[in-house]
Formats: sequence, C-alpha cells, structure tokens
Amino acid sequence: MRKKLIIANWKMNLSVSRASLLVHRLDERIREHRSVEVVLAPPMLTLQPLSLQIDRRKFRLCAQNAHPEDQGPLTGEVSFAMIDGIVHYALVGHSDRRYKFGEDSAFIQKKVTAAVRNHITPVLCVGETLQEKRDGETMQVVHDQVNSAMECLTAEEAARMVIAYEPVWALSSGHDYLHHETPKPDDIKRVVAAIRRTVAEVYGPKAAGSIRVLYGGSSNASTAHGLMSTTDVDGLLVGGASLNYAEFANIVDAAYQVAHQETENIAG
Ligand code: PEP
Repeated sequence: MRKKLIIANWKMNLSVSRASLLVHRLDERIREHRSVEVVLAPPMLTLQPLSLQIDRRKFRLCAQNAHPEDQGPLTGEVSFAMIDGIVHYALVGHSDRRYKFGEDSAFIQKKVTAAVRNHITPVLCVGETLQEKRDGETMQVVHDQVNSAMECLTAEEAARMVIAYEPVWALSSGHDYLHHETPKPDDIKRVVAAIRRTVAEVYGPKAAGSIRVLYGGSSNASTAHGLMSTTDVDGLLVGGASLNYAEFANIVDAAYQVAHQETENIAG
C-alpha cells in the first residue's frame, strides 16, 4: 500500500511567526501515523526556522521552488543544493511557476533532475488549462508534461517521484477554495490512470506502481475524504485550505480514515 501524502502549499502567505503559530497548533492535533505523511510547503524564508521547530516524526518539509543550478551569479535565487537536508520534497512545475513565471518544459526537466541529484523528491505538478480542457487536450497535455519532466531519470529515481494532477482551472485563488469548481471523481481517476500508463511506458510497471499521484485543486475538509476514496489518488496537494488550521487538520483526519479503510479492505 502506498503511503498517503498530504501537502500544504502555503504559497506566498504567512509570516515566519504566523507560520510557526500554525505549526504549533497543528502539532497538538496531528499524530504520528504509519500510513499518512503530512508535509508543509512554506515560503523559502520559513523553511529553516520550521526545520528546527517541527517534530520530524509528524511533519516533513517541501520547498515551493528552487533553482536547478547549484550556485552562481543568480541574484535572488536559492538552489536545490542549498536546501538539501532541510526539505524532503520540492514542488516542480506548479502552474503558478509555469504560467506566472514562464517556466517551460526544458527548465522544469532541469529542476526535476537537480532535485533528484540533491536527494530531494520532486513533486511534479501537471494539469491542463481551461482552454486545453475545452479543446479536449487534457490527456495529451498531462502525458507531455510527465514525459518531458522525467526524461533524464532512471527507473529507480522515477519510482520515488510524486506527481500531482492539478487542473489549472480548478485551482482556487486563496480563500475561494470552498466555492470553486473541482473535476468529477471519474475524470480525476482517468487522468491518474493515464499518468501511471505514461510512467509505465517509459519505466515499466514497477515504477508506475510505486509513484504516488496526488490531486490538487480547491480541495477542502468537506471534499477531502471523497476525493481520496473515489479517485485512486494517494493524497492531496492543498493550497488555500491549508492556511486554515481546522480545514487542514480535518483534511489530515480524512487521510487517516481513508488509509484505515484501505488497510481493512486489504486485510479482508
Ligand atoms: C495549489 O495551488 O497547489 C492548490 C492546490 O491550490 P488550491 O487548493 O487553493 O486550489
């Protein structure tokens, strides 16, 4: 059974002190769990202080971004090499980076490779825009994004990847996660299956069966259980709702419940 993964993407929100307060509250509520991993992706500035604060049995850290070069004259950037040892994961290919910062597939491939080189697991975000969805291009877009980003990996490296399916049109812009449109479970299920097929074509069934595939896009406490129990996803990448203590804690509770249910089903 693949371990469930819940990632809180705080984006450009929360000061260092507010982040610390939120983690303090979450720490009281979230428990160490064999089948559920809880990961926090704060702004870069906050990674270091949180790495000293968190109970590593309960939380892991994820960078929202990093630069593929290890060092050099790149003012304002922080490299994967510099955060090795602080984070377990790094988001790569998030639609904010693709569409607001113009990151193309070649650059995203370099980031995936640099993350792996520096012992960091990439969380590769893929997903179609509204126009691509309307044009019936979802499967092609996702296939191409997965294929090109992972091109330089070995099968063993590919097997450890996390891929997050995040339809760009379903992402909330902050606090509207409660009222935003999300894809139908069957549609998510089809894309998740296509992602595993794409990985299998290149790296074989073992890698395709090992990678964890998440869903991201306006998930919240009332949709989390359904999203995880009906779509074949291994967890959620949570944006807006992860800034709210109660919402996020309830999403983690939903992951405990789904993991428990799956364990019971396997035991028969
Ligand atoms: C995201 O931006 O990664 C995300 C999942 O955002 P939201 O949950 O707010 O749609």
